[in-house]
This record gives sequence, C-alpha cells and structure tokens, in this order.
Amino acid sequence: MASRDLQMLEGTVANVDRAIESLGLRDDIRDVIVEPWREITASLTIRMDDGTARVFKGFRSQHNAARGPFKGGTRFHPAADLAHTRALGMLMTFKTALVDVPFGGAKGGIQVDPHELSERELIALTRRYTRSIHHMIGVSRDIPAPDLGTSAQTMAWIMDEYSAINGYTPGIVTGKPVELGGSEGRSESPGRGAAIAGRLAAIDLDIGGSSPRVVIQGYGQVGSSAARKFVEDGATVLAVSSHLGGIYNSNGLDIAEIDRIVSEGGTLLDYPNADQVSNAELLLLDADMLAPSAIEDVITTENADQIKAKLIVEGANQPTSIEADRILKDRGVTIIPDILANAGGVVVSYFEWAQNVQRFKWSLDRVNSELESIIEAGYRATFSTAKDAGVTMREAAYNLAIDRLTRAIELRGFLK
Ligand code: GLU
Repeated sequence: MASRDLQMLEGTVANVDRAIESLGLRDDIRDVIVEPWREITASLTIRMDDGTARVFKGFRSQHNAARGPFKGGTRFHPAADLAHTRALGMLMTFKTALVDVPFGGAKGGIQVDPHELSERELIALTRRYTRSIHHMIGVSRDIPAPDLGTSAQTMAWIMDEYSAINGYTPGIVTGKPVELGGSEGRSESPGRGAAIAGRLAAIDLDIGGSSPRVVIQGYGQVGSSAARKFVEDGATVLAVSSHLGGIYNSNGLDIAEIDRIVSEGGTLLDYPNADQVSNAELLLLDADMLAPSAIEDVITTENADQIKAKLIVEGANQPTSIEADRILKDRGVTIIPDILANAGGVVVSYFEWAQNVQRFKWSLDRVNSELESIIEAGYRATFSTAKDAGVTMREAAYNLAIDRLTRAIELRGFLK
C-alpha cells in the first residue's frame, strides 16, 4: 500500500477519532464507523486493440449504509487501489451525513489511465467492471456516480451493462447523460456547491466580502463550474489551472472567454490576457480565497505556511494533508472542508436518483435552487457548530456527520 494512500486513510480516521472524543461517544462505536461493510477487488480482463489480453484491477468499497443505500463515485486512475478507494468511500459516508441526504458512502475505481485506452477498450473495461460488481450494487443498495477519470458517458455504459442483466434501470447510476435520465444541473453541481459555500464564508468572515478574489486549482468539472458560479455571484477569479499549468491575472480572468477557447479545442494556456504560473505557484498567489479543485494532497507541510489566502474551499477530496491542516489552523486560515465544499455533486446525484425512482423530471431552476438550500443549510449548521464549540469548520463538519451517522447506527440496533 502506498504511504500516501495510508496517510489519506489515517487522516480521515484521525478526524473520526477526534469527533468521537468531542461528542463523548462510546468507544465501541469507532470500529463500527471506520470499518467498511463490504469490499471487492476484481481482476478485469479485456482484449486490447492489438489483440493481447490485459488484466486490470477494479475495486468497490462499500463503507456504510446505515443512513441509506451506499453512494459514491467511480474513479479511473493509475493510482487507484483498495486503500485509496476505502478512504474515499469513508469520506462519502460523512459527506452524505453532513448534508443530510438519505445515502451511505462508497467508492469504486479501476487502476487504469483512461487516456491510454481506445474508446472500444474503455467500453469493454467498463462493462467487465460492471459485471464484476453488479451483484453488490442496486437502486436501493449502492448507486455509483462519476469521479476522476470517468464521466456521464462512463455512467451510460455502466447503466447499459447493468440493464442488460437486470432490465432497464436508469437509477443504478447518477451523473448519467440527461438524454438517459440524468438530471439537469448534475455536471455543474460540485463546483456550484463549492462556490455557494465559499461565497457564504467570504461574507460571514469578511474575507473579500461579496466580491472575493478567488484562485482555483483545476479547471475540470469541479474547478470550471466553480469558476462560473463564483463569477455569476460577483467574485473575481484571478487564476485557474490544468495539468498543463495555470494562468493568472491580478485583475481577473474572463471565464466565459476561457470556456469559449476550451470548447473550440484550445487549452487554458491559449488564453491571451494572463501570465503563466505553475500549479505550485498558483497555490501561493495573493488572493482572498483558494479553491483546490483538482487532486488530493496538494496543500502539505511544503507550502502550508506560505499560502496567502485566508479562506480555503476544498473543491477536491482531501487536498490538505493532516499536518498542513494543523499549520493552517494555527495561522488562522479557515478551511471549508471537502465533505461540505464538494458535496454539491452527491446532492444533485440524490435529486437525479429521486427523479429516476419517481419517473419525474425536474427543471434546472428547481435543481439549482434546491442545491443552494441544501448547501446553505449544511454550511450554516457547520459554521454555527464551529463557532459555538470553538473548533474548525472541518472539526464541526465531522462532529455533525458522525453524530447523525451514530444516531442511525443506534436506531438500527447495531449497538444493542
Ligand atoms: N464523486 C463525487 C464525490 O466524490 C460524487 C459522488 C456521487 O454523486 O455519488 O462526491
């Protein structure tokens, strides 16, 4: 197991331990909360375009379903492994509990670089993965969604394969294409949620007020949709980045223009009115708010003491290491934790699932306004808990999530 993955798991478990202590919960609850209920590692054999057979490793970690069916994304990434999947599955349990949607937590993945596969190979791999997990997922059991390296298209293939075995089942995945029963607003939802929480905090803490200056690492699904929502709500986005590097203008970027360039096949670096910065430099730019929205573990002991933003909004899952979290706390930097900041994705997944179950379609306006209410409620509860208890937003979020989860575990009789 790579030490980085262990650290992610340990970081989440450390947050759980602290919450258990601060809530005064009985000791035997710890293992019930930490241990995943069920996991699978599968060998996925497909024929490559060159005629050779190749075996990929696939995973699904079903962490906890005390509050509702398991729910969580599917990651196609070269570094995906069981420990990593498990850490992210646990995070989903706390995310759904914090924003109070009726789901548990899970995560899945395949150890693969999807960009190295042809479309035919990717379809074959996705179908093989679906066949390997179809007995453990279900509309009332476990509902996969997209994550890094997967998309609405991947969900369509999973739905198709699952439906071939079980009959037409759109509610088996969320984050599907709208044409196949996906929800309006799902693709923009993780970034919108991050921007909603960020805006509320900027006003409450008076960090940039109603027009904060924001730096966003990443311009994928989360980063780009956060940028659009930030601008819509009056913020100035100073910098964004991709794996190629970042672009920065202290007077702000024209996000609509960037979207036009990217939609025409260009890259961020083709945007003319900005300086180029590396991803490492971008994190240290002078701004009110920093939204790491790409990958995990980017804010570490290496850079935590040099970050200038006073507010960090974790658009990505686990972008801040445990040690960096402590340094930032000591420096008085407020962090809106991942389980709140990027919960917008799973919130609209819940709307999508509810629409599929009811065979009823919501408008984009309804999706966006209900998303706003749920993220605002989660933010307000976290903010006031943090204030009342004199703890960080992350500590408050874990307290709220674990309290809610424990209540469900007790009510279901696990501790009797
Ligand atoms: N992969 C996303 C996350 O980490 C979405 C999960 C979902 O919608 O089920 O929150």
